[in-house]
Amino acid sequence: MRLLVLAGDGIGPEITAATQAVLRAASGRFDLQLHMEEAAVGHAGLRAHGSTIHTDIVERAREADGIVLGPTSTFEFKDPARGEINPSMMLRKSLDLFANIRPARTYAGFPLRSGEFDLVVVRENTEGFYADRNMEVGSGEVLVTKDVAISLRRITRACSERIARTAFELAMTRRKRVTIVHKANVLKVTDGLFIEACHKVAQEYPAVTVDDVIVDAMMAHAVRNPQRFDVIVTTNMYGDILSDLTAELSGSLGLAASLNAGAEHGMAQAAHGSAPDIAGKNTANPLSLILSGAMLLAWYGRRNKANSFEVAAAAIEKAVEAAIAAKQSTADIGGRLSTRETGEAIAARLRA
Ligand code: NAD
Repeated sequence: MRLLVLAGDGIGPEITAATQAVLRAASGRFDLQLHMEEAAVGHAGLRAHGSTIHTDIVERAREADGIVLGPTSTFEFKDPARGEINPSMMLRKSLDLFANIRPARTYAGFPLRSGEFDLVVVRENTEGFYADRNMEVGSGEVLVTKDVAISLRRITRACSERIARTAFELAMTRRKRVTIVHKANVLKVTDGLFIEACHKVAQEYPAVTVDDVIVDAMMAHAVRNPQRFDVIVTTNMYGDILSDLTAELSGSLGLAASLNAGAEHGMAQAAHGSAPDIAGKNTANPLSLILSGAMLLAWYGRRNKANSFEVAAAAIEKAVEAAIAAKQSTADIGGRLSTRETGEAIAARLRA
């Protein structure tokens, strides 16, 4: 499997190095023959190639069997004309990575805020309110006058149906429950269309129980009773916000794994940002990206009927569980190890 590894900004290089150590160990143990190439994105890409993501890197990503993307400091990228582009957007849009799968589950080994739970947020990844990807040409945000700004939100039946199908397929492998999260009480047309598309797809999965929850109330339900949820399907921005909440409820944003998947390509990417407040301190939790890497291996294994990749993914998850229980983790989840040591501890468990 050929992986393109893009370390990114802030804590990106630290958590990516820890993830690579784990992937190398998994490759050795399960004979995956992982080949990792690296390229510079974010500020390092801007310095090296004049762009936060050079077009050559997008082409290399297209040719790779999978991508590992560290977080980038996207808030600092203001002007595309100066090469300041959101690498995550560019890869999601260019490779049509329409499904952002964001699991959140609790682990034994540290105090829990809302009890034990295990859910997955399935977030549409290519349209919605995201102004940098929801238009064919131009931006979904317009400055009409210097005092009037408009933001457009695109919801299509095709994108809604395909993300719903992803959610129902996933639910069939889990507890067979899908919750649709929306704001159709106010956004009656767009979210109305999204709900309608989800219910249409639901008819193909009679074994799955379906309900829907309005996004604001969802915040209360998720905190009060996350056990109620199995698979949650929602539009782009609601999913982005909700999945940070569910990750933090599971213990830390540092556990926020995610896979971006399309029909042809897969990309491991932590759900959180570049965390400038803790960058360079070797204290960031690398488990978000390590678990994202495991999701990428499992995705590749399913697609290529290569069982050893799915076995390797399960072994990484088990090693993470055991490491957390043994307090071989970073301080955000009650451990005493650095970023690098956490990666090494998990790699050592895989080699054992
Ligand atoms: P953030 O997600 O980077 O950080 C929020 C809080 O969570 C901070 O206190 C941070 O220290 C903590 N945190 C995040 N990841 C952690 C980890 N692995 N271990 C321990 N603690 C962790 O959000 P922000 O500060 O609002 O954003 C910083 C930058 O990241 C901005 O430029 C933003 O645009 C960008 N961003 C990038 C992505 C991405 O590349 N996918 C996603 C979100 C935000």
